[in-house]
Amino acid sequence: MKSNRRTFLKTSAASLPLAAAIQVLNPATISAETIAATATSGTVPQLTPLPARLAPVESSTLPWQQNIRRVGQSNMTEHDPAVMNIEEWADYWHSASADIVFISVTGILAFYPSKVRFHRQGKFLNGRDFFGECVAAARKRGMRVVARMSPDLNWGDALDAHPEWAMRDANGSVLFSDEDPRLFCTCMFTSYMDDYVPAIMREINSLYDVDCFYTNGWPPIGSLPDCHCAICSKLPPSNTTAYWRAFNDRVLELWHKYDAIAKEKKPDSFYFANLGGNVRCGPNLARLGKTAAWFQADNQGRTSENPAVWGCSLQGRVCSALMEGKFAANVSAAYSTGTVRWRNASKNPAEARMWLNETLASGMALYYHFIGSEAGFGEDRRWQKLGSDYFQWAKKHDAHLKPRRSLANIGVIMGQSTQLLYPPPAAAHADDYMRETTHGIYAALLDGRFAFDFVHEDRLDLERIGKYRALLLPNIAMLSDRQCQQIRDYVRSGGSIMASFETSLYDENLQRRQEFALADLLGISKAGDVIGTNGNAYYTRIERSHPILDGFSNTNWLPGAQNRVPVRSVPDPVLTVVPGFVQYPPELAYPPASHTDEPAVVLREVASSRVAYFPGDIERTFWLTGHGDLLRLLHNTIRWITHYEAVVHVDGDGFVELLCWETTPGYAIHLLNYTNPNAHHGWLSTVYPLGPQTVSITLPSGVKVKAVDLLRSERTIPFRLEGSLLRFTIPGVDDYEIAAVTVG
Ligand SMILES: [Zn+2]
Repeated sequence: MKSNRRTFLKTSAASLPLAAAIQVLNPATISAETIAATATSGTVPQLTPLPARLAPVESSTLPWQQNIRRVGQSNMTEHDPAVMNIEEWADYWHSASADIVFISVTGILAFYPSKVRFHRQGKFLNGRDFFGECVAAARKRGMRVVARMSPDLNWGDALDAHPEWAMRDANGSVLFSDEDPRLFCTCMFTSYMDDYVPAIMREINSLYDVDCFYTNGWPPIGSLPDCHCAICSKLPPSNTTAYWRAFNDRVLELWHKYDAIAKEKKPDSFYFANLGGNVRCGPNLARLGKTAAWFQADNQGRTSENPAVWGCSLQGRVCSALMEGKFAANVSAAYSTGTVRWRNASKNPAEARMWLNETLASGMALYYHFIGSEAGFGEDRRWQKLGSDYFQWAKKHDAHLKPRRSLANIGVIMGQSTQLLYPPPAAAHADDYMRETTHGIYAALLDGRFAFDFVHEDRLDLERIGKYRALLLPNIAMLSDRQCQQIRDYVRSGGSIMASFETSLYDENLQRRQEFALADLLGISKAGDVIGTNGNAYYTRIERSHPILDGFSNTNWLPGAQNRVPVRSVPDPVLTVVPGFVQYPPELAYPPASHTDEPAVVLREVASSRVAYFPGDIERTFWLTGHGDLLRLLHNTIRWITHYEAVVHVDGDGFVELLCWETTPGYAIHLLNYTNPNAHHGWLSTVYPLGPQTVSITLPSGVKVKAVDLLRSERTIPFRLEGSLLRFTIPGVDDYEIAAVTVG
C-alpha cells in the first residue's frame, strides 16, 4: 500500500541508502544481461502489443498554435507601466525560449489609450501605449502575442450608465468584487459581453498585430454563476440541468462570436478562454472541446479542494480527453498559490518544478506565470532562473515531449455533469463529494501504476472508447439512456467495466430512476435507498475465493464503504454485506445480523467482457480513509476486468504517476516521483529519489529500436529487444524521468 501516509514516511526514510546504492549502478557499466535479470524478477502482467504506429505528420501543416511549446506570462499590474522595463521583460522571455507571451489589454484597466467607453486607463499609464510597446518588443524578438482581456469586473461609472450589466443577488443588489468593492461583477448574459468586449477586440485588431485573443475571468470554472439580474431571473435556477444547458449555450454563443471577431483581421487568429477546474469545469467540455483551438488550463497550483500533488497531470488528462491532439497548456504559477496566497512571491522550487513536470508528462505545453513585473523583475526574482532553465531543457527535447497519442488501455469516465450537479448522500458536502471520488480512483490507479485516460461522458462512441480494455465508472450517477446504450455496445464489443454506487441511477436531467439504467449490464436490481454510516460503516463478508480477493487471508471480513445502495441478492456471491452498527459504546459494537445475502460486489463474465459493480462508494471511501484493503480490492478488480493486460509495465519501488505516449520519434514513458511526505498536502520541498525502474513494453511487429534516452538525466541507457518485447532499466528517478524510445 504505497500511498498510505504512514508507509510513505517509511519509504522516504528508506530511500536515502537506496539512492546511494543506485549511484553504483552506472548505466554505462551495466550489461544488458543484468537488465534482463532485473526485468524478469518481478511479476510481469500480460503485455498487449502497442498499436501500429501513426502515419507521420509534417508539423508545418498544423495550425500555428499546435507548434507552440512554451508560453510566458508576466501578468501586468496597473503599476507596471510606471516601473516595468519592457526590454528586460522581453529579453527574459526570449532568453527562456518562450514561443508566445501574454500581454494585457484587459477590460478592467486599459494598458493602451483605449477609446472604448468605460475602458478606464490605468492611473500610471499617462496616455502611453504600454500594450503596443510590449507587442513591439515581443515581435522584435520573434515571439507571438496573446492579447489578454478580463471581462469579469468593471467600475462604478459603467454601473451608473449600465445598471443592467451587473450580476445581482436574490434581493436584486449588485454583486461586487469580494476583494475590491469598487469593482462590480458583470453578468455574462447581458450586453456587456455582446457590446463592450467586442468593441475592445475590434479596437485591438485595428491598432495592433496580435496572434489571438484570450479572456481571463470568464467563463467561470469550478462552479456555475448564480445571478438574479433581469435576464437571469428568466432563466432556470442555477445548479439545475436546465440552467447548465442555458449557460453552455451562452458560453458557446459568445465563444463563437469572439472567435469570429478575432478572425476578422487574420483567418488563423482565434479566441480562447479560461478552462481549468479539471473534471469539475463549469462549461461543458465536450462541447467546448470541439470549438476551442487552445485549452487554457487555468490550474496554477494545489488548492485546499485539490490538495494532492497530481492536480496538474489530472488536468492534463482532462485536456487529452477533450482536445484530441489540439493545443493545451497548463498555467503553472511560479508564485505562491494555495489557500493563503502571495501572488508576488516565488513558491518552493521543488513544487514549481513538479507542476512543470506534470504539464509535460500529461501532454500539455509548458506555461509559466508570475504576477506583476514590478515584483517579478524587482522584488522577487527567484522564479526566473527555474523557469528559463526548465524551458531551455525542454526545448532540447521537444520532439520526444510532444505526444501524438496516449497508449493507455483503461478509460475513466469523467462524469462532468455528475461532478457539477449530482446531489450526494445526506451529510456529504456536494462540492466535495465527487471531487473526493475522483481523487480516490485517481490515487488508486497511480498506486497500481495503471496506464489510464479520462473519457468524457458525452464522448462514448465506440470509435473512441473501443481502444480501452476497460472503462471505469466511479459513481457516474448521471447517464442518459443513449450513454447507457453506448456502454452496453462497448461491453458487447468485448470491453470490460467497473462501476460503483449510484452509477446510472439518474438521467441526464437529474431525474432519479426507479432502477439502475445499467441494471441489465451490471446484473443488479435496486433493493432500497442509500444507506449511510452511523458509527461503524458496513463490512463485507468473504463468501468464496475469487481473483479480486487475491492477497487477503486470515479474515472473513473486509471493510465496505461509507455509503451503499442495497441491491437484491445474486447467485453465488463473492462478497456479502455485513450491515453497519454503532462504533460506540463498544459494548454494542457488534453486528445485529452477521450474515446477509445482500451482495457487496456483483461480478459477471460475458464472452471476453468482465463486469464488476460495487454497491458502495468505494473509491471515495478509499480517498477518505487510505484503507489498504479497499486499495487492494480496487487493484485486484481492475486487474481482473482487464484480464491482467497492460500496455506498459514499470517494475520498481515508489509512488509514481505513469504516462505513456506515442511520439513522432517513437515512444515516451514518463515517471513522476510522488514518493514524498508532501504528496497529499502542502508543497514539495525536497526530492526523495527512487531506485531502479524496469520498463517492459511490446512494440508493434517490425518496429526496431535505435536508442533509449533518459531526458531528465540526459543519458543513453542500454536496452534489450527480444522479438517485439522491449526492456530496459532506468537506474534511478529524482523528481521526474522520461524514457524516450527512438524507433526506426
Ligand atoms: Zn445575470
